Parts: sequence; structure tokens; C-alpha cells
Amino acid sequence: MTAKLGVVGAGGGGAAATSVLGSALPSAEITVFEKSRGVCGRAAARRRNGIVYEYGANYLSDAGGRVSELVTGELDDRLVEVDGPVWTFNADGEISRGGSDGERRWTYEDGITRLAKHLLGRSGAVVNRETRVVDINYEDDWRLTTADGEEHGPFGALLLNPPAPQTADLLSETGRASADRLGEAAQEVEYHTGWTAVLGYDFALDLPYYGLANVDGEHPVSWIGREEKKPGHVPARRSVLIVQASPEWASARYEDAPEENVTDLAEHAARIVGDRRLATPDWTDHQGWRYAFAAGSVDDEPLGEAAQDGIYVTGDWVAEESRLDAAIRHGL
Ligand SMILES: Cc1cc2nc3c(=O)[nH]c(=O)nc-3n(C[C@H](O)[C@H](O)[C@H](O)COP(=O)(O)OP(=O)(O)OC[C@H]3O[C@@H](n4cnc5c(N)ncnc54)[C@H](O)[C@@H]3O)c2cc1C
Repeated sequence: MTAKLGVVGAGGGGAAATSVLGSALPSAEITVFEKSRGVCGRAAARRRNGIVYEYGANYLSDAGGRVSELVTGELDDRLVEVDGPVWTFNADGEISRGGSDGERRWTYEDGITRLAKHLLGRSGAVVNRETRVVDINYEDDWRLTTADGEEHGPFGALLLNPPAPQTADLLSETGRASADRLGEAAQEVEYHTGWTAVLGYDFALDLPYYGLANVDGEHPVSWIGREEKKPGHVPARRSVLIVQASPEWASARYEDAPEENVTDLAEHAARIVGDRRLATPDWTDHQGWRYAFAAGSVDDEPLGEAAQDGIYVTGDWVAEESRLDAAIRHGL
């Protein structure tokens, strides 16, 4: 009998796990359900007038091991290395030369989402985009319901990739105590909120670094990255800054008017970088992240019990590190 497997979420973790399942079980029917139009979840990219920019995960770190091997091997089509070092700044916005020169950081010429596209492409799975799963239940086998009211299944096993609070919503009153217990454990995982301003300029910037990271966690800005340092992302004589707010700033201002938030972050960027022109970008974009970074994980026990009943979870919160490379490593 053909094994039928369902995957909820096509983030880095879900896409990596799907690719492994596709290779290990070539005769299995694997169906992926992804609520968004794009894949790769919080590793997200947009396009605008010939510019590609990443407004979630900025890059994939070269953390070594299987992920680096895979990315530089089978998944290297359109892979590019981010050019330039990451320097640091403190609570007063004073910049210091960072210690990370020489570290490799990757993305793709056409956006970091290419990573999940590569992984899913080789899995042989059917990927349903813009298809939100709203309910999961067990009756002899696993079934799930999507937002359009359609029921899918039966599945022999389900793999869930959404952030812990969204996984918890799905693993509630499923009809299987082990799955519900995992849902309760996932509900306890806390998250930091995030907020990203994208600032576009019709001029080039001449700076000695790719990114600036706040080291003491005391500044309203946690990160400034330059998309033009990613080959293929920004045409000549233009610049794009990605400014990420600190978790404290992001939670305090999450519901505030986006234009005001963008203006505030642009002002901070201008002060930190030391260039007044940066306070008035030529175009902007923004994104709030309710569940940006997992600040905890779950115990092995509920994970193991649910797995025995055919419910698996993957992603950064299970990997115990809120990084793209960790999510992928866990999925693999
Ligand atoms: C602003 C920001 C900056 C970051 N910067 C970096 C960085 O520079 N480097 C780095 O390594 N990491 C970075 N990270 C962290 C990194 O993005 C995450 O750790 C990683 O992408 C998590 O992958 P995941 O597979 O665990 O989950 P996700 O990427 O969250 O994927 C979950 C998927 O599930 C889908 N989904 C959710 N609910 C449902 C549902 N009900 N039905 C169907 N689909 C559903 C979502 O749409 C999503 O595609 C950053 C994160 C943020 C927010």
C-alpha cells in the first residue's frame, strides 16, 4: 500500500524534511499544505522594480555539517555569498569592527526562498500553496481540514512545521491524547516579536561592512543589513537597508501605524550609520513578525509519544535555535 504523508508548512524545516522523506520513501505520496503564496516561511523575500530583498532571515549561516554541504553541493544553483563583514554597534549607536570577518553567509540570487524551492523541487511532493490547515483529527488515520472546508487524508503520518503557538492551535482536541499533549507543550514555548523596516534609496552607499548587529541588546535596532551586498539583489547606484527592531521595540510598537514605525527606524539607521540621507528613503516596505524568534523548546517526551502515533514536528523551535540553518538541520 502507498504511504500517504501530509506536511503542514513549507518553511525551511518543513521543506528540508519533505526532501528527505521524498528520497527515503520514493513511492510515498507526500502532500504539503502551505498557507502563504510563497515558500520558506520566515526566510522571506520580495521583489520590486528589479530589486530582490529579504525582510525575514537575512542569510543562511555557514554553520558547517550537512546543511552547508547540501547548500554548496546539490542546492547550489543560484547560490551567492554575501559580500562583506558584519560589524557591531552598542546602545549608543557606536560602531565597532566586528569579529566575524571571514564568516560565510549565503543567500540566492533570486531570493532566499530559492532554498525551499530547491528542497521541495527534489522531493516529488505535491505542494498546495495558499492552503491553510485549520484542523487536524484522528479517526483510524490522520485527516486534516483546510480553510476552504475541504477534508484531506487519510494520512499515515503528519509532519507539522508552523511556529509552536500555531502548531499548538492545530494539535488540540485531535482525538489522540499524545498529539494533544504535544500541543499543550508547544503552547508553552515563548516567542520574541519582530518588526522589519525595508528602506530603499536611489543612490549607492559606500560603507566597509555588509551588516551591523547590536551586541548589548540595549538599542531599539537589533540589525541593519545591506541588500546590495548580495549579488543579484540590487542594481547599481541603488541601496536597500533592512532594519530590524529589537524585540522590546517590536512588542511595544507592534500595533502602531507602520509609517511611524518606518520613520523611527529610518531615523535610527541614519544616526547609527552616520548618514543623514538615510532618514528619508525613496521607498519603503515593512513587516511585523508576531512569532519572530523562539525563546524556548519542548521536552523530548511529548515529542516521542506523539511520534509513536504518527505526529511529527520540525522547525527552529524544535531545533532549540531560532536560526534558518538550525531549522533545516532539524528537518534533514
Ligand atoms: C526578522 C527575522 C530575521 C531573521 N534573521 C535570520 C538570519 O539572518 N539568519 C538566520 O539563520 N535566521 C534568521 N531568522 C530566523 C529564521 O527565519 C527562522 O529560524 C527559520 O526561518 C524558521 O524556519 P522554520 O521552518 O522553523 O519555520 P517558518 O519559517 O516559520 O515556517 C513555518 C511555515 O508554516 C506555515 N504555516 C503556519 N501555519 C500554517 C497552517 N495553519 N497551515 C499551513 N501552513 C502554515 C508558514 O506559512 C511557514 O511557511 C530571522 C527571523 C526573523 C523573523
